[in-house]
Amino acid sequence: MNQTSIRLKKREDRRIRTGHPWIFSNEIDTRLSPLKQFTKGQEVSIEAHDQTFLGKAYVNPHSLIAARIFSRDPQAHLDQDFFQQQFLKALALRSRLFEKTDYRFAFSEADGLPGLVIDRFGDDFVIQINTAGMELQKNNIASALCQVIPECRSILLRNDTQIRLQEGLTTYVESLYGHPPEVVSLEENNICFEVSCWSGQKTGWFYDHRYTRALLSKYVPDRRVLDVFSYLGGFGIHAAVYGAKQVDCIDSSKSACEFILRNAKLNEVANKVSVINEEAFIALKALIHSGTTYDVIILDPPAFVKKSKDRRKGIIAYQRLNELGLKLLNQNGILITCSCSMHISMEDLKVIVQRAAAKTHQSIQMLERGHQGPDHPIHISVPETDYLKALVIRKV
Ligand code: SAH
Repeated sequence: MNQTSIRLKKREDRRIRTGHPWIFSNEIDTRLSPLKQFTKGQEVSIEAHDQTFLGKAYVNPHSLIAARIFSRDPQAHLDQDFFQQQFLKALALRSRLFEKTDYRFAFSEADGLPGLVIDRFGDDFVIQINTAGMELQKNNIASALCQVIPECRSILLRNDTQIRLQEGLTTYVESLYGHPPEVVSLEENNICFEVSCWSGQKTGWFYDHRYTRALLSKYVPDRRVLDVFSYLGGFGIHAAVYGAKQVDCIDSSKSACEFILRNAKLNEVANKVSVINEEAFIALKALIHSGTTYDVIILDPPAFVKKSKDRRKGIIAYQRLNELGLKLLNQNGILITCSCSMHISMEDLKVIVQRAAAKTHQSIQMLERGHQGPDHPIHISVPETDYLKALVIRKV
């Protein structure tokens, strides 16, 4: 067996044939293709047990996901041309979806670029590389991006995600091209935001909630709104611009709260936006204690379930959060409750809210469901890419 192929065990090709791109280390026939003969990030062909070709992949012999398929074409190589072709496909979709050039430009496996996330803020790009295979391709990625988007002014590498450690990579933040500015602007649903890509969360902005934020326009005019886990005011500033009477934003991060006020000023709604720089559960209990109530509440917490073994604990936390939200809600009020945990399904979220309503003796109805926007496509065979859920609930 030559050193450029990985042979799978019998029957381990079935999931791969349905389109799934990951090869787990225990699926490999390590007698025929010992993993230690491969270097981190090396390009290989994946073969079924009967030697039929399944795909071109890159390897990480030290990771549980030992290989990730990047193409089903036996001639494909990880080179500048490969990235250019993938970027052109990614761009074709986004140019159709949005008038402005602010969006998730590439969403990893779902855009045929395993381990690579790119967010676009006009002509400034922020990249997250999550695998050793992609780490080796930094220069090809930068050259391809500049070829496909000649206006590209800067590329920042936000390579500080914890998943990199599982791949044996270090974490760092640095410029890959040009001079990435401290603060960039973006427009979403015709509303402007300023964000810090160097120090903000993830790449600096969560483009995934774009359409759920737009849903607010129907529910908030003349209403009192509470945006919990507000970050830079994604939901809260939308609510204020859409005509809310008052918007309170809760976030435990001091710098996020400063940016909420900055974004409120930018959109000329500073007079009705306030921040509560506090841990959310503490702040919500204090609001209940003080007798404050709201007409619209958004709950968009960080992932409470990061690993499937934490599911039970996480579900309890989601339920407690939703109980607090429902307690603060006026009659006929609207609760927009979200989860970005890939281990929590839309059905799970529905059950969580149903239990929270029962616990607080409230009747609710479900009005709408929200999902990640289409610049975060879902890989039809990779459930992990279908991660964001939102429910619009009315208290009746
Ligand atoms: N709703 C935001 C995204 C939320 S990201 C948007 O539309 O863009 C999660 C946010 O929760 C982060 O800003 C983080 O600072 C904040 N956070 C995390 N744990 C928290 C806690 N226990 N209490 C309050 N805020 C918290």
